[in-house]
Amino acid sequence: MKDFRVRFAPSPTGALHIGGVRTALYNYLLAKKMNGTFVLRIEDTDQKRYVEGAEDYIMQALKWCGIMPTEGQGLGGDYGPYRQSERKDLYQQHIQQLIDNGNAYYAFDTPEELDAMRKRLEEAGGSVRNYCIFTRMDMKNSLTLSADEVAKRLASGDPYTIRLKVPADQTIVINDVIRGEVKFESNTLDDKVMMKGDGLPTYHLANIVDDHAMKISHVIRGEEWLPSTAHHVLLYKAFGWEDNMPQFAHLPLILKPNGKGKLSKRDGQKLGIPVFPLSWDSDKPEDAFTGFKEFGFDPKAVVNFLAFLGWNPGTEQEIFSLDELAQAFSLEKVGVSGARFDFDKAKWYNQEYIKATDNADLVEKVKPWLSEEVLQKGDDYLAAVCGLLKERVEVLPDFKEQSTYFFGPVQTYDDKNVKKRWKPENLARFEELKNMLAGLTTFDAATAEAEVVKFMAKHELGNGQVFPVLRLALAGTMKGPGVYEVMEVMGKEKVIQHFEAAFDYFEKLTKVS
Ligand code: GLU
Repeated sequence: MKDFRVRFAPSPTGALHIGGVRTALYNYLLAKKMNGTFVLRIEDTDQKRYVEGAEDYIMQALKWCGIMPTEGQGLGGDYGPYRQSERKDLYQQHIQQLIDNGNAYYAFDTPEELDAMRKRLEEAGGSVRNYCIFTRMDMKNSLTLSADEVAKRLASGDPYTIRLKVPADQTIVINDVIRGEVKFESNTLDDKVMMKGDGLPTYHLANIVDDHAMKISHVIRGEEWLPSTAHHVLLYKAFGWEDNMPQFAHLPLILKPNGKGKLSKRDGQKLGIPVFPLSWDSDKPEDAFTGFKEFGFDPKAVVNFLAFLGWNPGTEQEIFSLDELAQAFSLEKVGVSGARFDFDKAKWYNQEYIKATDNADLVEKVKPWLSEEVLQKGDDYLAAVCGLLKERVEVLPDFKEQSTYFFGPVQTYDDKNVKKRWKPENLARFEELKNMLAGLTTFDAATAEAEVVKFMAKHELGNGQVFPVLRLALAGTMKGPGVYEVMEVMGKEKVIQHFEAAFDYFEKLTKVS
């Protein structure tokens, strides 16, 4: 059996979209499962779309997700260089081979002539709109010009491209691992450009030459590449490599949260959700994005979430470590229909990972969001607070928002509930409770509870009359962790301070209205 070799082949055209990360992840998982090799190849032959910093971003993003390839650009290996712009000679040789075998031809048409052709075809109203089997003989190329004329033009440096000569009347069959048999009729395909005027190959040529040269056994990529695969198969045939073609697997689209259409880069900005792993800075606000990392996600949760965007283990299990994913993953369980990008689900995953994180580790993760002043309180106190809140937070910045009352006075009270729950006639009683608590020598959840129970019994007060008031006094809201646990973590002094400030505020608020 052939060695199992897969590759991730991004173009450095900007930040790596979450769809690209999913492609990388599936390649990573399969390589791991099959004890294979995961290659990183940078497809940078389109100079016009090249973006400074994009390659670095790709590396950082894969690193953050923990899904690094094992061979390739920046990693070494026997099949380098792994940046396509450094492999020009190889492409030149192959292009020449295509020309020599009659599978490709020079085209000298100017942009104006190409436009005129498209216009003509549009006006004729047929379905053919491009450079192809039906139109190539009307154009200026080495199929229509004399050999002399072609030689003259080449010698004088006339601009040209090289196009694939798609054969007529062939049915191209692709056995996609995910989709089964997919057929294309060659008569519907255009004569794609293989080499551009700048002497660089197009994606199609470079991709096929490299997959072959790098001994790639499985091509796993997004569905948007499926139509191009017909051309790719023709190229494999033209080079005589058809017995050695990789297996293709085209992954389903990732859809917008509402399920309508493909998730785009812009959706992130429009909906205020991350669609990139890491932030991307740009002077132009429309090009700057906030990533999952900066939204406060654990990369393990992101990976777990992404794994399920298109794949399903067929069991009830939802939480998987990377190792478990690698064991369970298979292309056969990847679906054909688009996978909805459900941001609530992403947050759910993150919450599960936060809950499972040790309190001390959580402190380290939350630190980037905390102020200097809060950090001063010490890791033990922060760990205790994180421990209390972790059942309730979805992303790391939630800790900051939900924990303010542990580090200073309550900033805002839920006035509506204060008005509903605070009975001025109970002021003296709550003052008494405050004094009872102040008198405790051991202050923890159990001793505080014993005092509160005593207090309720003495004044014949029920839970509904006491707990909401305590919660509002300590945290300003009705939500949050258990009152006794909050008291223990805060410590006696702060609890008393919170009570004093709160009762004062409650009194004023209820008097005014
Ligand atoms: N360079 C292509 C991309 O940016 C690679 C597609 C493929 O995997 O063949 O997605």
